[in-house]
Amino acid sequence: MHYHVGMFGSHLSIAGGLHNALLEAQQLKISCVQVFTKNQRQWQVKPLTNEQIDLWHKTRAQTKIRQVVSHDSYLINLASPDPENWKKSKSLFREELLRCETLNIPFLVTHPGAHMRQGEDWGLARVAKALNQLHKQLPGLKVITCLEVTAGQGTALGYRFEHLRKIIDLTTQPQRLAVCLDTAHMLAAGYELTSAAGCRRVIAELTDTIGLDLVQVIHLNDSKVPKGKRVDRHEHIGHGHIPLSAFRELVNHHHFRSIPKILETAKEISPDGRPWDIVNLATLDQLGKRPTKRNLNTQKRIKV
Ligand SMILES: [Zn+2]
Ligand SMILES: [Zn+2]
Repeated sequence: MHYHVGMFGSHLSIAGGLHNALLEAQQLKISCVQVFTKNQRQWQVKPLTNEQIDLWHKTRAQTKIRQVVSHDSYLINLASPDPENWKKSKSLFREELLRCETLNIPFLVTHPGAHMRQGEDWGLARVAKALNQLHKQLPGLKVITCLEVTAGQGTALGYRFEHLRKIIDLTTQPQRLAVCLDTAHMLAAGYELTSAAGCRRVIAELTDTIGLDLVQVIHLNDSKVPKGKRVDRHEHIGHGHIPLSAFRELVNHHHFRSIPKILETAKEISPDGRPWDIVNLATLDQLGKRPTKRNLNTQKRIKV
């Protein structure tokens, strides 16, 4: 089996050890992987042992994984109006940054947070303030925080490109920030990922508000809900409301070719008996390839 050439990857489990995600990525023949560096549902953090760190680096060196991305804990709300929760969120995010640094993970993806009815401008300023404090406390880290576009559920911030731009503009060290797109979130937030032409218009808007250079990670998920529903429900590629033509436009854009494009779809077995990750990666492979004679032959063998 060939390696997936298009910088496609998947969010993989760290059950039984962080390095297991790398081993699974190797088995899937993918070139990038996303991980949680800790249990994402817990506030408590067990420090990484030297043994865990060594095993991670050793496994990384032995595998052909080109890029690793981390996603932070869903408990973190850097926009929280509650002083105690804001403090806890900052302290856990600090830990997330340090773990990425230790594990040599260059990108940490985070959702900007929820303003809990304090207002969007208030919330965006609150997130920037938290990041400014952390950046000041932790000078010289290499890890880049990627603010993820959200579906805009409840009082969640980040469902407009302008929100992410505003946070970056309000920070004192903007070079430590970048952006993560998520196709399911974008459609749910109302962005027109409903055709190739729609996707081109979304990219044009992204160019005007954020700039394509700032996009460092993309989450490739289809959406169970149609455009504008403001709920976050991931679906397998080509099985939801985003047509393959929109995915094709995005994955082949020259600006996004070499950045990690990660699946965050359910780890189930598909009706044909293959794990869904394999099926989704095969779909992405087909979208990412220009139809040469050799590829056409390969495509015939891959049932999608
Ligand atoms: Zn996310
Ligand atoms: Zn995502």
